[in-house]
Amino acid sequence: MFTNFDQAQALVKQNAIRMIDLKFSDLWGRWHHVTISASEFTPSLMENGVGFDGSSVGFKSVRAGDMVLVPDLTTGFMDPFWEIPTLSFICDTMEADTKELFSADPRETARRAEKYLIESGIADKSIWGPEFEFYVFNRVTFENGVNVAAYRVDSIESNWNSAQGGHGHFIPLHGGYHAIPPRDQLFNLRSEIVNTLEDIGLKIKYHHHEVGGPGQCEIETPLLEIISAGNASMLIKYVTKMVALKHGQTATFLPKPLFGEAGNGMHFHQLLQKDGVNIFYDPDGPHLLSKTALYYIGGLLTHAPAILGITNPSTNSYRRLVPGFEAPINCFFSSGNRSAAIRVPQYATTPDKVRFEFRPPDATCNPYLAMATMLMAGIDGIKKQIDPKDAGFGPINEDIFSWPPEKRATILSLPTSLEMALHALEEDHQFLLEGSVFSEEMLTEWIRVKRCEENQIRTRPHPYEIELYFDL
Ligand code: GLN
Ligand code: MG
Ligand code: MG
Ligand code: MG
Repeated sequence: MFTNFDQAQALVKQNAIRMIDLKFSDLWGRWHHVTISASEFTPSLMENGVGFDGSSVGFKSVRAGDMVLVPDLTTGFMDPFWEIPTLSFICDTMEADTKELFSADPRETARRAEKYLIESGIADKSIWGPEFEFYVFNRVTFENGVNVAAYRVDSIESNWNSAQGGHGHFIPLHGGYHAIPPRDQLFNLRSEIVNTLEDIGLKIKYHHHEVGGPGQCEIETPLLEIISAGNASMLIKYVTKMVALKHGQTATFLPKPLFGEAGNGMHFHQLLQKDGVNIFYDPDGPHLLSKTALYYIGGLLTHAPAILGITNPSTNSYRRLVPGFEAPINCFFSSGNRSAAIRVPQYATTPDKVRFEFRPPDATCNPYLAMATMLMAGIDGIKKQIDPKDAGFGPINEDIFSWPPEKRATILSLPTSLEMALHALEEDHQFLLEGSVFSEEMLTEWIRVKRCEENQIRTRPHPYEIELYFDL
């Protein structure tokens, strides 16, 4: 929004802005904020920043102690949810003493991955199109500290979803794809989310009801550069949740909130540009893809198990990656098959738009780290010229679930648990350390904390175990 501080300060004065909100992402992809009074918005802020405790947001073992936030002026927007006029910024995090950019800051990691791409000479820009699926609920029910909403989806009297009002126009399970009102009761809500996002300067491609019915929605952005795509991801999740709350509802991007219903993915469309030209395009290549694109695919699929340790970093992520819900299960690429980890959309055929989507990720990822990880895997594939065909990654355009089990077993599967993905990441992360884009220290901390989460789930009696085993 702003190119320099004076511009930002002029707007603060003109619009009688009273609060400056400083938002930043922790290691895990959750925003935090601290709010300063407009009188504190001075050139000294840009030099010295605002202090915060890095140890409280997952930065601890990577860098103990005091850190500071400095606003990224280009990200300024009027936060639409507060009565007191509030100008908001996404921030960079810095070491308090040296004022150097904090090396494990997720945005800084994504910047380093982009720099590594440029220095490799392969391309000068990576381009991203994230997709956001989420559910809207009327409310979430907790009993004895356990969220039981997910176990109520089948009950007639359930009050879990926003689209049931006794009028008979509700969407059946799995029946929500591009549903039209009056079945689609969330049109106004989604339009308000998109309007709010556009008012704060984000471009949105479209929104629609998704398959999971009733209540699953989707919003997509047009293609964006890496940091803009990360910022947009944070904003979309924030605005979606805030607008839903404003209407007494609640939105979640959790990968699998409901048993037996479609999960929420966060597919990432991606391509590389050099001198403004899409180098993934080749009119004579398979699915219009160039050799570079195929090698990039080879890299993504070779490292997919490890990648999922970053792009699918919750225990819930793996409840989504199961057959029957258009979620990816196997390591291959395809033009039509939605159980493939990579799909080449057949509607994107113009030279500037030819691309593919990596389908495993979900929104429990840190989007900056997720994109950095995918990009590093792709670059590795290009450098090593990993041909996906030779590596057994397709293309396969048949429904592999109609194949006999022996034949299907020849196709590599994605990890089926967080533990498997973390193990893969532990074993295979050299491609992330290239160019010092990620550090061993940061990855060790990541795996340690995620293993603790996994342990918390594994050691908790599950409500469904009561049904299965209580009377044995
Ligand atoms: N919800 C599916 C997933 O979990 C995707 C469905 C779709 O966009 N076609 O990835
Ligand atoms: Mg979509
Ligand atoms: Mg979708
Ligand atoms: Mg998609």
